[in-house]
Parts: sequence; C-alpha cells; structure tokens
Amino acid sequence: MSATKPRLAIIGSGWAGFYIVQNIDLEAYSVTVLSPRRTSAYTPLLASAAVGLFNFYLAEEPVRSKSRSALRFVKANVLDIDFGKRACRCAPAFDEDPALAQEEFEVVYDYLVIAPGCMPNTFNTPGVEENAIFIKNVSDAMRVRKTLFDLLEKASLPHITPERASELLHIAIVGGGPTGIELTAELDDLRKDELKAIYPLVAEYMNISVYDVAPHILSAYDNRLHEYASNQLEKRHVDVATNTQIEHVDKDALYIKDKGRVPYGMLIWATGNKNVPLVEKLESDVKVSRRGLKRILTDDRLRVLKPDGEFYDGVFALGDAADIEGASLPTTAEVAVQKAKYLVGNFNLRAKHGPPNPAFRETFKYEQKQLVSYIGAHDGVIAGKGPNDPGWTGRSAWLAWRSGSLLWNRNWRSRVVIVLTWCLNRVFGKEIAKM
Ligand SMILES: Cc1cc2nc3c(=O)[nH]c(=O)nc-3n(C[C@H](O)[C@H](O)[C@H](O)COP(=O)(O)OP(=O)(O)OC[C@H]3O[C@@H](n4cnc5c(N)ncnc54)[C@H](O)[C@@H]3O)c2cc1C
Repeated sequence: MSATKPRLAIIGSGWAGFYIVQNIDLEAYSVTVLSPRRTSAYTPLLASAAVGLFNFYLAEEPVRSKSRSALRFVKANVLDIDFGKRACRCAPAFDEDPALAQEEFEVVYDYLVIAPGCMPNTFNTPGVEENAIFIKNVSDAMRVRKTLFDLLEKASLPHITPERASELLHIAIVGGGPTGIELTAELDDLRKDELKAIYPLVAEYMNISVYDVAPHILSAYDNRLHEYASNQLEKRHVDVATNTQIEHVDKDALYIKDKGRVPYGMLIWATGNKNVPLVEKLESDVKVSRRGLKRILTDDRLRVLKPDGEFYDGVFALGDAADIEGASLPTTAEVAVQKAKYLVGNFNLRAKHGPPNPAFRETFKYEQKQLVSYIGAHDGVIAGKGPNDPGWTGRSAWLAWRSGSLLWNRNWRSRVVIVLTWCLNRVFGKEIAKM
C-alpha cells in the first residue's frame, strides 16, 4: 500500500463497518479494519440458519477476500481513541489466548470510522449472562441448534418421564421484539414440520414461550397488527406472556415476578441493546445521548461531536453505536447500511475530486422502509406506510419477508445457494439433523 494514501481506520466489522469495507475505493485509501470478528453476520438471517433453512456459512461473510486483498484486517478490540494524536489503542482479541490481550498497540489514522455496534442488554437480571443464549453471530445460531438437538436427545432417553421431557423441551424466549418473534416463529415451524417426523416420541413435549415486560409483543407495529401476531401465535400453542418480569435466572429455571419458578431447557435472551465498553470509554471526549441507550452523537454528516458541540475533523460514527443529534433513528441494519452508503459514497467522491471538493455537501437523509416480521406458519405482518395504510398480514406478508430476507445477503453466489436450498427443502425437507 502506498504511504501517501490517507489512512482510514474502521472500528467494527458489523453491518456498518462491513458495508464500508466492501465499497471503499482501495486505490484511494489505505484501509485498516479493527474488529474482534473476522466475519460480518447477516443478523436477519440468523434465526433461519439456526433452524436449518440454509447452511450457517450463508449467514455471514468474511472481511478478508480475494477482491479486497489491499485492505488490512487486525483482529483486535479498540480500547480507547486519542483524538489529539489521531490513534486507536488496541488489544489483540483471541478468546483462547487471553494473555495476548496484554500486548497492546496503536493504530494511527487520518480518517476514522467508529462502528462498534451494541451488545445485548440483560437489564442486570441475575444469572442471564451465564445461562442465556444471545443471538448476535453465527456461533450463537449454531449454539441454538446444538442445544435444541441435545435437549431432544435427552428427552428421548428411556427413563425420562413426560413431565421431565416437557421441562427439558421448554424453549423460553425473552423479548417480544422482531428478533425474539422471528426466532419463535422459525422454531415453531421446525417443531410442526421436521421435528414431529424426526423425534415422533418427544416432539409433542416441545413447548415455546415468549416473555416480555411490555403489554404486547412487536410493539413497533400498531394495535391491530401486534394483536394479530399474538393471537396467531397463541392459536399455534406458543405461550405469549406479556407484562411479565423475569427477576432472575439459574441454569434450569426462570424466576418470574408473581409466578415463581418456571423450568426451561433453553433460554434465549433477545431484549434489546446496551452500549459497548468503547462508548463508555469515549464519554468524556465525545457527545453522547443521555436518555435510553448511550450512543455517540454526530451531526447530520455523521461527524462525531465533541462535548461542546463542535465536530471532530475526519472522525465519523454510525450504526447502532451512534445517532444523529436531534434526529434519532432506531438501531437497525437498515439505518446502519443507509448511513454506511452515505459515508462511503462521500469518501469515494472526496478521493476523485480536487478542490473545491463536492464531498459531504449533502447531509444524510434516511429513507424509511416498511417494517416486516415473520410470525410463523407462512404468515407475517407488514406495517402500513402512514395513518391511512393499515398494513397487511398473511401469506403475501410472509412472501415479502422471505424475499426481503434474501436481499440482506449481499453476496450473489450465496443468494443463489440460499434459493436453491429453499427449493430443495420444499421438495425433500430441511437437513436439520445435520450440523
Ligand atoms: C438476530 C438479529 C436480527 C436482526 N434483524 C434485523 C432486521 O431484520 N432488520 C434490521 O434492519 N436490523 C436487524 N437487526 C439489527 C442489526 O443487526 C443491527 O442494527 C446492526 O447489526 C447494527 O450494525 P452495526 O455495524 O452498528 O453493529 P454490529 O453489526 O453489531 O457490528 C459491530 C461490530 O463492531 C465490533 N466491535 C465491538 N466493539 C469493538 C471494539 N471495541 N473494537 C473493535 N470492534 C468492535 C463487533 O465485534 C462487530 O464486528 C437484527 C439484529 C439481530 C441480533
């Protein structure tokens, strides 16, 4: 790489960071990606991968590739940023070699993109960190599938009573937002289709519950749609427990306020986001939102704001970890990708033109897409576009969701394999018993 190119450091290889990595002009910038993960997960595809709709590798993409060999990937966590020195302090990120994390180093930059995302929020509920599965990456989706099959095998042991089988096969999903409900829907489909045939003696004991502290599930949708979703799930014997507070958790039971102990076999926690440690660390150097989730505040050109409201030159933030001051947007891949598109478009424009440079003249504008969720049994809900549009439900909503989910995968080769796998699943059933 030429030493004369401006150095662009990107923190995070999730939806935001990865989009920039794939589209930045590598002739113009010397790019370094700093992330503990060498792949980027297509998060909307994780639930489908967990239940065997397609192979796990189709739900993620590696940062390194033949076509992007000019970029440098560094498997590390950014611990802190020295904005004066324009340097990131990093620690190697290897779970199996924690001692290596002591060997800290610095990466200097001319431009910096901060996109470290968020982490699951347990709301400090005791026992959740140690006992629940969080769905953030392919390894989590694999854990769901492995745990489910281990439980089915345990329940199939000759000495296990029906009562014990029901406890083992109780899948508790905490969080009635789109992530929790789509996972519920996929697991319920699996129970009704493949598992009945593969585990004929115990599949009937599998029971799924969704818990939410809010008065209803899918609260981003209007009353008609979230009531519809709730009724459809209840009809299919999914227990939807709203207004329910989990007080603590141990390795085989939930403890619910006013209800007491409820045994479970697998606990999946999908209740929302909290900030990553890096955002906490930067709090004295950057402006952060004070209400709800702590996020780095930017202006409408995604430039990071100092505590006094001025912006840092050449430092940008986006994705779940950042928000535009005065124009808050939700923590979704849709927002992360639209911001990444804006940013990388302007970086590439800046590289092409001399002064006066047209880059960053326009501000970022978000284009709201329709909210779509799968609720199982080839049924879905789609929010309306405005007060006069009631949205819709049913098979066409499922088809819209299914085709939309394919587009989340950015790799054409993977899209073709996914479609082929769907067709094969339809004819021969899912290859769910294979890992
Ligand atoms: C199961 C699931 C399903 C979802 N479905 C949808 C959907 O259908 N539609 C939708 O719009 N959104 C969906 N979302 C939300 C979407 O995934 C997030 O909004 C999106 O991932 C945010 O992108 P990001 O790049 O900000 O963060 P992430 O994708 O979380 O990536 C953050 C990256 O930063 C890295 N990182 C963290 N800390 C550091 C550090 N200190 N140093 C260096 N790197 C660091 C992480 O390892 C990761 O690589 C879903 C989320 C989940 C979990």
